[in-house]
Amino acid sequence: MTTEAELLAKIPTGLFIGGEWRDASDGSTLDVLDPATGKALVSIADATVEDGAAALDAAVAAQADWAATPARARGEILRRAFDLLQERREEFALLMTLEMGKPLAEANGEVTYGGEFLRWFSEEAARLTGRYGTNPEGTGTMIVSQQPVGPTFLITPWNFPLAMATRKIAPALAAGCTVVLKPAALTPLTSLAFAQLLVDAGLPAGVVNVVTTSRSQELSAPIIADSRLRKLSFTGSTGVGQALLRQSADNVLRTSMELGGNAPFVIFEDADLDAAIEGALAAKFRNIGQACTAANRFIVHSSIAEEFTARVTERVQAMKIGRGTEEGVQIGPLIDDRAVAKCVALVNDAVSRGATLHTGGTAIEGEGSYFAPAVLSGVAPGSDILREEIFGPVLAVSTFDTEAEAIAAANDTEYGLVSYVFTTDQGRAQRLIGALETGMMGLNVGVLSNAAAPFGGVKQSGIGREGGSEGIHEYLSTKYTMAPLG
Ligand code: NAD
Repeated sequence: MTTEAELLAKIPTGLFIGGEWRDASDGSTLDVLDPATGKALVSIADATVEDGAAALDAAVAAQADWAATPARARGEILRRAFDLLQERREEFALLMTLEMGKPLAEANGEVTYGGEFLRWFSEEAARLTGRYGTNPEGTGTMIVSQQPVGPTFLITPWNFPLAMATRKIAPALAAGCTVVLKPAALTPLTSLAFAQLLVDAGLPAGVVNVVTTSRSQELSAPIIADSRLRKLSFTGSTGVGQALLRQSADNVLRTSMELGGNAPFVIFEDADLDAAIEGALAAKFRNIGQACTAANRFIVHSSIAEEFTARVTERVQAMKIGRGTEEGVQIGPLIDDRAVAKCVALVNDAVSRGATLHTGGTAIEGEGSYFAPAVLSGVAPGSDILREEIFGPVLAVSTFDTEAEAIAAANDTEYGLVSYVFTTDQGRAQRLIGALETGMMGLNVGVLSNAAAPFGGVKQSGIGREGGSEGIHEYLSTKYTMAPLG
């Protein structure tokens, strides 16, 4: 078992550019904090605009050779990366708990989930084919082939430090694209450890480059403006996604956007209430509520709302709060004090508009960014908590009486990432699949992410899909050739 100190001592702290680890060009560094203590874990290189440009240069230089590498060989590197990740599972899990705060058991779950993208796309690489056929007029041959789009810029958020990176890197590499990865400054260590893992798996120099920086906007804008870049894939908040889409317009850059969510969790009167409660707790409190897929609005039939609220309150009050490394902890710290302040403000706003607070809802005094998980009921329409992404452990209940009301409430948001529905009525379930404006739906389940499935949203939750057979196509362009009959 590696200790925290041993692990931190061996994490690379430089920028990874062109196959080499280097300091920032101006020598600057940034501290990575442990949200459980507020103290620095380690200090790493803080990339400058010049470092960003050097990373893109390296990705551009490596592009032609990587695209020419046989798909099977690309897939085998991804498969070796998958195997190495299993070997290093404990270290990656501990690293994520240290820099992000999630309970160790959940960090382990992320190693599994994040790793599956490596395995899935190692297999998909070899499945890329085209089409060949005679045109309908019988006068020519039509050839349709798939080409890698070229060098890519991948920007990831702090909440799933491994999975958000592998969900982009694996399909990019499988498709034959090179990468500049810019992880979030709050949790960059996992990406640095992962870059080292890719080296150990045999990835050639320059194919993946990692720049950690506190100067995201300054570093990113010139990369996005560079006509050699052919693809931007971003996961993060809708506001930043909108700004990046505007920047991408000048070069008509291919983009994928995995943005925020405001997931409804609808429980009908015919639901299996025990299953709905388990699903609700998983959908709400996984990752300490800091997931784009987190249930944000519990829309519960008025005949069962009181029982549901009482039972989830009891479960929430029994949750163990503490540092993610401690045995049995279910609620770790939030990412920083700003996140705590946001949750407190959302709870106070809801209460000021008439909601009842059943438990929690306050900052926990002392070291680290802790917040007492909260349950609210009777949340009034117009409350901030129904419009904004909470990104924290607050379970907010409002009620409905008819199916039409439930659908209208669920769709009453500019987001459309995921919706959860609990019902035992098959006909109703089918109607809801049709009626909900959502990219994904959990039907009688509270957790749905899977590397083999297309992940993504509609409306302001994003553009494009990650994972599944769809995921690799985000990194490919279709080329059509007409030739005389053979
Ligand atoms: P964020 O938008 O603040 O940051 C995301 C990334 O963008 C980080 O790497 C950040 O450094 C970078 N960034 C910020 N401003 C930038 C700019 N102007 N130019 C270039 N890069 C910039 O989001 P966050 O707080 O890290 O993550 C939380 C958000 O991510 C939530 O809204 C959540 O819903 C969303 N998210 C979405 C998905 C999904 O798959 N749809 C998954 C996880 C998280």
